[in-house]
Amino acid sequence: MNDLSASDVMPASALMKHVAELTSRRERHELEHSLLDLIVGFLNTTSAEVFSVRETQGQWEIKNLYRHNNQHLLELHPDSQWGLPSEQQQQALFAAQQSSDMLPWHDGKLWLPVHQFGDIVELIEMPCQRPLQPEQAAFLLGVLRIHANYLQLLYEAERDMLTGLLNRRKFDTRLYELLANRDGEYVLALIDIDHFKPINDNYGHIVGDEVLLLTAGLLLRHIGQQGQVYRYGGEEFAVLLQQNTTQAQQTLEILRQQIAQHDFPQVGHLTISIGFVEINQQGLPAHVVEEADKALYYAKEHGRNAVYGYHELLLQGLISQHDSNDGGEIELF
Ligand code: GH3
Ligand code: MG
Ligand code: MG
Repeated sequence: MNDLSASDVMPASALMKHVAELTSRRERHELEHSLLDLIVGFLNTTSAEVFSVRETQGQWEIKNLYRHNNQHLLELHPDSQWGLPSEQQQQALFAAQQSSDMLPWHDGKLWLPVHQFGDIVELIEMPCQRPLQPEQAAFLLGVLRIHANYLQLLYEAERDMLTGLLNRRKFDTRLYELLANRDGEYVLALIDIDHFKPINDNYGHIVGDEVLLLTAGLLLRHIGQQGQVYRYGGEEFAVLLQQNTTQAQQTLEILRQQIAQHDFPQVGHLTISIGFVEINQQGLPAHVVEEADKALYYAKEHGRNAVYGYHELLLQGLISQHDSNDGGEIELF
């Protein structure tokens, strides 16, 4: 391992192939798999372990993400717990933080830090008999920098610029995935700010933007670990909740109340309308969205500041499957 003779080192063509592979990825975990393949191949080693890293109140915490073993990528449980790093890992993190152009090596182990927005977000740990030669370290540092730049591009590609929420594109992908292989119960909720246009008209577009930003923050805070929040478009948001209908009705009702109680600077109080539907059939993404949209439309037509579920409305005969939203779609933007 890492007793590198010239024949062990990958030829430039193989390295370029790996780098091209790396930048062809569109999902973060795929990108990381490629990165590991490249590093493990370059160092001619047999295993590598990847940890997620975060720093809270000056204290590092890590958790296992996955392990690369004999060319097989073994994914560990996504719910593995955060814990304190070992003494060695702590020293490696500290050294990597102090100097961005060195790769910590100690006692037969090498660590490679993965950066995002200037912070270390992952640590790759691998066996390595001796410290790297300067050219090897320089090459790996270059690869890690390409990876960090690419992570940033991927991050920006799936975010909404104004609110920082996941964007419509990411929502479409996630909903498609959920419908293709759903594990557990999910609900899609569409949320629309009531009478948002007058806010723009009365206070100006900048205040309108501020309200969108604050609302996004409130949604994130209140939904928390229960689901993901997306900016669907304009003053409309989508939430994918990992909950059953009864739980979702409660979560969304509390959310509605909390937004209604919030005091927005200048604007004061505002309300939201919510339509939701359970994602429980192998339907098309467009149909699921349409059903949530119908429930939202019903809320808009019946006083706003309310939460309605599509199937409950159907059951009560308040809407029919063939209703259209007044001959057209809700104005999304
Ligand atoms: P309703 O209660 O029926 O939803 O009424 P509304 O006024 O909220 O809805 P409408 O669709 O009439 O207006 C939405 C407005 O949102 C119109 C559009 O100019 C504004 N908007 C969309 N995107 C943005 C944005 O990024 N920033 C700001 N400030 N306004 C936006
Ligand atoms: Mg609106
Ligand atoms: Mg709207």
